[in-house]
Amino acid sequence: MKSLSLKISGIPPSATIEITDKARRMKAEGTDVISLSIGEPDFDTPKHITDACIRALLEGKTHYEASQGLLELREAIADKLKAENSIETSAAEIIVSCGAKDTIYEAMEACVNPGDEVLILDPSWVSYEPAVKIADGNPVHHSLRQSDFQVDDSVLEKINSKTKMIVFNTPSNPTGSVLGMESLRLLKDVCEDNDLIALSDEIYEKLIYDKEHISIASLGDMHERTITVNGFSKAYAMTGWRIGYAAAPLPILKQMTKVQQHTISHPATFAMWGAVEALRGDQSCVEDMRQEFDKRRRYLIGALNDIGYKTAPADGAFYAFVNIDGDDMAVSAKWLDEGHVATTPGTAFNAPGWIRISYAADMNTLKEAVRRIGEL
Ligand code: PLP
Repeated sequence: MKSLSLKISGIPPSATIEITDKARRMKAEGTDVISLSIGEPDFDTPKHITDACIRALLEGKTHYEASQGLLELREAIADKLKAENSIETSAAEIIVSCGAKDTIYEAMEACVNPGDEVLILDPSWVSYEPAVKIADGNPVHHSLRQSDFQVDDSVLEKINSKTKMIVFNTPSNPTGSVLGMESLRLLKDVCEDNDLIALSDEIYEKLIYDKEHISIASLGDMHERTITVNGFSKAYAMTGWRIGYAAAPLPILKQMTKVQQHTISHPATFAMWGAVEALRGDQSCVEDMRQEFDKRRRYLIGALNDIGYKTAPADGAFYAFVNIDGDDMAVSAKWLDEGHVATTPGTAFNAPGWIRISYAADMNTLKEAVRRIGEL
């Protein structure tokens, strides 16, 4: 066989999935492993949403749809973005794809030319860099301020004539921190002064505690150069449904739609009807899950601090980001091999010296995990 794609060979497998798979193998061999490496809510999708999907199936909503995504869903998304995020948009400027991950890949394919630089703010989610590379762009990394994971002027050092886009995520996976108005205004100025596209991944928007979520696209004219990415996986516990979306200026949106037409066509039609119900139906399920995550967050951060670990500001998402005095890869491996607690080393997020612990697990499991880590 002739050599396979060098571009893909050079991309490492997803670290989070690798660790979760190792924990799964250890469990299958009989070890009592606690898995806190996963980025998935441990709740089932609320019943009114699954009912709407089943109804759609029974009503024969099983055919091809508009490749940009079901119009009723794009209208519901536009209404949500206007009402909750103050983003000026319409169904024409929205695309629905197979999860926010797919949306991000399409955005890169739509915007990036070979040699373009895409600036990623670290610590960063594991799939941004591969998405840039698959689109033949050059990923460039810049670390957020270590003390509070906010943006400062040093970001300018990484901008040059080749920079095309800045990618950031708030609330953040892996840190749990939330970008404040000062950071977002700075990013806005940087994008406007240098004619850059902002890709703002807001998938954890609904999981926020004592802080306000601000969409950069709501600031001034930023909607004219922002791709706002969001989805249903985290807010509505719909990870397996594979539905995400973006609002973007029309020229970008049209490019993304072409990518979608020639790849996935669109997400499953009946799943999109479920997503309509998620947005148009009762929202109390979102608040119930948020409150449960908040209880766990308070417990976990307090307990980790009590056993001597420093943690990043945990204002959003469902992760504790723990500062490790030393080699995060070695410490995370020790926690798994000796304590049987699976976590994710910060190195996977371009943040060596930190470990991410997911609190998408019930309280008893978290208590046992802290006990085990404390004994090591
Ligand atoms: N963006 C971030 C920051 C994530 O953590 C995830 C999932 O882990 C995604 C995007 C992808 O979400 P989806 O399930 O909608 O593809």
